Amino acid sequence: MELFKKILIANRGEIAVRVIRACRELGIKTAVVYADVEKDALHVRLADEAICIGPSNPSQSYLNIPAIISAADIADAEAIHPGYGFLSENPHFAEACATSGITFIGPTAETIRMGGDKAKARQMMKRKGVPVVPGSDGPVNSEDAVIKIAKKIGFPVLLKASAGGGGRGMRVVREEQELSQAFMMAQREALAAFGNGDLYVEKYLPSIRHVEVQVMADGKGNVVHLGERDCTVQRRHQKLIEESPSPIATASFRKRIGEYAVKAAKAFKYRNAGTIEFIVDDDQNIYFMEINTRIQVEHPVTEEITGVDLIKEQIRVAAGLPLSFRQNQIKPSGHVIEVRVNAEDPERFVPCPGKLQVFNLPGGPGVRVDTCAYAGWTVPPYYDSMIAKLIVHAPTRDEAIARMKRALHEFTIEGIKTTIPFFLRIFNHPDFIKGAFNTAFVERVMNAERQPEKKNGNGS
Ligand code: ADP
Ligand code: ADP
Ligand code: MG
Repeated sequence: MELFKKILIANRGEIAVRVIRACRELGIKTAVVYADVEKDALHVRLADEAICIGPSNPSQSYLNIPAIISAADIADAEAIHPGYGFLSENPHFAEACATSGITFIGPTAETIRMGGDKAKARQMMKRKGVPVVPGSDGPVNSEDAVIKIAKKIGFPVLLKASAGGGGRGMRVVREEQELSQAFMMAQREALAAFGNGDLYVEKYLPSIRHVEVQVMADGKGNVVHLGERDCTVQRRHQKLIEESPSPIATASFRKRIGEYAVKAAKAFKYRNAGTIEFIVDDDQNIYFMEINTRIQVEHPVTEEITGVDLIKEQIRVAAGLPLSFRQNQIKPSGHVIEVRVNAEDPERFVPCPGKLQVFNLPGGPGVRVDTCAYAGWTVPPYYDSMIAKLIVHAPTRDEAIARMKRALHEFTIEGIKTTIPFFLRIFNHPDFIKGAFNTAFVERVMNAERQPEKKNGNGS
């Protein structure tokens, strides 16, 4: 079977560049879309063709379905790769592609819809025998219903937006008195951010790790998992560092989580690349959290550890080919760590867009950088602040940490602030080095650093 002649990439930033690279190696032509303020962006420079689809505001450009479908028509592209974020998990977009005779590189609209309703997805997983965190069965739409569940499972509880994503739309409720206001505000926020006010409830687990499993399926019955990624190092529910293997993974843990992931993928009638996210508690109990029906930011971790090019595989599967590997051919080797280099102040994590005066990449053995940035480029203020991913591969975790520190020292960015100094602190922290941390780690480290200042008062 033949692959596509031309693919349109409906995204920007490093992921658009990543898809262009895969296409070029497969001999597929690329067209990209861009907002008028991004005419100097790397994805525009590297693609065979670039079509301006609107102004900076994403709702008028990177989220503009009619403009993107028209661009694909103009470019005569047979398929669209949606990247992550933007329209990647929008079932209407997948349907609009189908209606226009364009292949959407991803799962079916139906699977996207099922995965995007997190409350229902939970319910289905429970029915299929994949454990979920104690909480509501489906969405809860009254305060009384939340109170009833909270009393049953005990406080604290977590109110989550059923349509939520990107670490947003979550609210911890510690006691009953807080509930009324929290419920109202969470509902309002969910409606504003996701256009859907549905909430569901989970028990808030105080000490957890985030461990997820990459899956790949061809829609012809083959579902393979490509091992786990540990994304426990987070700030405000947003991932900062990802690694594989998970520092807590034993052979039996890996087998268990892999089986749950495949079971989940089959239940969603999965096709193409996807990720099943799990919570793991201190007793290594595994609970399904959500499914991300798209390629993820941290996919290079899996690519480096398994040697599989996930983007090429996505394209092959979308063209109707069967998976190019079987489960027993997936043999992870060594240790991989990734950091997300954000254009942010490393103390407060507020966005810090601006012009890159100097941008010198690290290199050498076992170092990969996926980026859309270059010296002289101006980081625009309108989009995600992630400008690069630094990924290192080494035989052991200790060697990977040493390599990461070496690469972070080489990485020179001037003109804007980035999260690089923050990462150096983390990789020197004894708890990170031991692998002994949970999702509260970053906050704990940052608080501990603030304490001494307080103690010394006015800077003795
Ligand atoms: P990953 O799961 O790939 O690590 P993130 O949760 O960091 O992804 O999200 C990837 C990108 O997609 C980010 O830019 C994030 O803001 C965006 N995103 C994810 N889910 C949603 C959503 N439901 N609504 C809006 N943006 C989202
Ligand atoms: P999103 O769709 O925004 O990615 P998730 O449901 O994946 O939301 O949760 C994001 C993060 O929030 C998780 O990685 C985890 O750190 C935290 N989290 C989610 N559910 C719970 C829970 N029940 N208890 C404690 N922390 C949680
Ligand atoms: Mg998630």
